[in-house]
Amino acid sequence: MTVPLLSPVNSPHDSLQSRMNFQAKNVAAPGVHPPLRERGSHKTRAGDFQIVKRLLRDYLGDQWLALSIAAVCMVITAGTSGALAAILNPAIKKIFLDKVPHMLVTIPLEIMGIVLLRAVASFGEQYFTNSTAERIVAAVQRDMFFSQVRLDLGSLNAVHSGEIISKFLYDVAMLRNAIIRGVAGLGKEVVTLVALLVVMLLQDWQLTLISLALLPAVAFVTQKLGRSLRKSSTRGMEETGVLARALSETLSGRRIIKAYNLEDHAAEIAYARIARRLKYILKAVRSRSASVPSTDLIGGLAAAITVAFAGWQAMHGQLAVNEFAAFVAAMLLAQQPVRNLSQLTAISNEGLSAANRLFAIIDLKPRIVDAAGARPLELRAPAEASRVRFERVSFQYETGAPALDEVSLDIPAGKKVALVGPSGSGKTTVFNLLLRFHEPDTGTIKIGEQDIRNITLKSLRENIALVTQDPILFDESIAQNISLGRPGATREAIIAAARAAAADGFIQATERGYDATVGEGGLKLSGGQRQRIAIARAMLRNAPILLLDEATSALDGESERQVQEALATLTKGRTTIVIAHRLSTVLDADIIYVLERGRVVERGCHADLMVKGGLYARLYRHNLSDGQESA
Ligand code: ADP
Ligand code: MG
Repeated sequence: MTVPLLSPVNSPHDSLQSRMNFQAKNVAAPGVHPPLRERGSHKTRAGDFQIVKRLLRDYLGDQWLALSIAAVCMVITAGTSGALAAILNPAIKKIFLDKVPHMLVTIPLEIMGIVLLRAVASFGEQYFTNSTAERIVAAVQRDMFFSQVRLDLGSLNAVHSGEIISKFLYDVAMLRNAIIRGVAGLGKEVVTLVALLVVMLLQDWQLTLISLALLPAVAFVTQKLGRSLRKSSTRGMEETGVLARALSETLSGRRIIKAYNLEDHAAEIAYARIARRLKYILKAVRSRSASVPSTDLIGGLAAAITVAFAGWQAMHGQLAVNEFAAFVAAMLLAQQPVRNLSQLTAISNEGLSAANRLFAIIDLKPRIVDAAGARPLELRAPAEASRVRFERVSFQYETGAPALDEVSLDIPAGKKVALVGPSGSGKTTVFNLLLRFHEPDTGTIKIGEQDIRNITLKSLRENIALVTQDPILFDESIAQNISLGRPGATREAIIAAARAAAADGFIQATERGYDATVGEGGLKLSGGQRQRIAIARAMLRNAPILLLDEATSALDGESERQVQEALATLTKGRTTIVIAHRLSTVLDADIIYVLERGRVVERGCHADLMVKGGLYARLYRHNLSDGQESA
């Protein structure tokens, strides 16, 4: 079973409606949502050392054995290359000059032996570097997922899911490349370079120093290119995130896009984003491609100068011809590792900036956590325990006007209380605060005598079941979707919950029954069927506190009647808060709170509020006439 991305509690703000609103805004004004600037972008280069240290400590550390094997294989591969070249000398001498007969067998056997060793070593090198890189990538992905999934809703809402997905896939791939090329390359090139330097020094130390004089220039150019590469690849990755966002919106809004003939419009937006991404990626390609030729140019210049000096020394009798030959050969051979190292700088720059972005995600801390000494919610003993109280609670989302303003509510244990009011008046926000999706700015919320801030989040949410207008179903079987209410529930319990939610009938009627998958987001079910599965989920949860957020307002008359029956069973004996669009469904509520612009403006039972003739009475009459019109 795949793990659902969010907690089993449906989040009201993930509703299709809010996604649609988001889309609508986005379609109307493309590019109004600038990509989230990563924390610590390329400007903070001082952190490179920190990033490497962290990679070593958190990820490479566990892999030291595999990496050591890879390193040994690397040295063997390099050695066998040399041996293959070296065997030419005795081969020519013994076969062609001395004509030793058994050498016709010995030399080919030796070649076979070296080639075999080389094949094994080369496999080891490839396998261990690549598998290590993939393991590290998996570990980074696990850490990212863990950090994302336990983040609070406010922080989650701040970043588009498309961007997160793009980081999960592309930034991580960049890191993998850097590790494969970096770890493998660094070892091999450094070893080769050192060996060749030794050869050069043995021939002539002065010439060696001259040939190294231009090395700082190589370092300078490499660094410049690396910086520009890092900048453009960071922007490229940001644009990849933006593109992923467009893609995920197009896919989740496919019905609306078709219905409103928005295909061309959606394509236009996507093309613009693809073009912008390409621009930065091409810049990165340019820098990456420039690193080898520019190192080559400087290397060539160094070689020319050195040869001139060497020639001058030779003419003055200070340098023997065999020394000169060996020196120049070593120097020219050294160009290859230098050029590879310079490219490596570029790639590791990309890898470091990717790691930086990934660590920024891993380091996100949930803003809502258990208080020190938080205790589990105590509900079982006295009947009063599940009484819910809001005491002068005020709250404001990061953006916008106050959503709740000094709201006080008292929901007696085991009773049904309704929240009514115009849309945007703060009803859903009450649920968000009770579930601690967000924290009130002022005021306290209590369950029984316990302040919810001092209750563990886990026990708080375990004791609350939420049913929203647009239930979130995962693309798994019906049984699994219901069991999210109480993971690990038996098949019998699941079926009992479905019966109580009036869902058993239609489930049995479908071909594979409880094992039928529901499609992405429950696409294969009708709204009423989805809703009854959500109610079965809440039923299975068997929580003492029940929150219904417009649970029936999206339904037609017949499904609504069935869902209402299911709800009547569900609410029995539970502390229930109902948000209802159709006021006819809250007539039997023990208390009705009327909200307007984040304030409680009226409270009482239906009859009292009708007599009072205030906002509730107006809403009710409106509602009634709406109902008649649509009937
Ligand atoms: P209701 O459920 O009564 O229709 P809400 O509680 O959802 O209203 O919203 C109350 C106010 O808070 C509205 O003005 C709405 O725009 C705002 N709001 C709701 N959710 C968010 C959010 N996630 N971020 C910012 N503002 C929000
Ligand atoms: Mg609402």
